[in-house]
Amino acid sequence: MEQTLVIIKPSAVERRLIGKVVGRIEDKGMIISGMKMIQLDERILREHYAHLVDRPFFPDLVKSMTATPVIVMVLTGIDVVNVFRTMTGSTNGRKAAPGTLRGDFCMSGQANIVHASDSPENAKIEIARFFSPNEIFNYAPVDMSFFYADDEL
Ligand code: UDP
Ligand code: MG
Repeated sequence: MEQTLVIIKPSAVERRLIGKVVGRIEDKGMIISGMKMIQLDERILREHYAHLVDRPFFPDLVKSMTATPVIVMVLTGIDVVNVFRTMTGSTNGRKAAPGTLRGDFCMSGQANIVHASDSPENAKIEIARFFSPNEIFNYAPVDMSFFYADDEL
């Protein structure tokens, strides 16, 4: 099965939304294979957001992403990169569809609750950026047959 990286951003930690985000992930049937609280810093954000380092808002992005610790998670599931990206919604919370995490929980294009890997290739790189192999657990919840048909597993 595929894996993706999630960051529950300071905008959600500050607003005590960790439980709601985790609850939606669990309700959907994605497996939480890794989860921890860490403090980000400018060095790792320059790597993680390398595509944005030259943008004028980058200093504000660093400030907002370092405002509190964050929760990083590895999720496992079939097509989980795409599934969680869809669940996340458009970058700007004001444009994100209702029902998505950003659409339901924020009004900002920066303080937008969660990060979601955007491709399986980037998910592998991002997971390795934040997790060592012994922090990722390979287990199968006993209810998997209720989340997937036999021929999907
Ligand atoms: N961001 C921002 N201003 C922008 C675009 C992006 O502050 O105009 C922030 C925002 O927090 C976003 C993150 O930079 O989630 C990464 O941007 P990206 O374009 O990769 O969006 P995402 O993949 O998070 O939807
Ligand atoms: Mg992105």
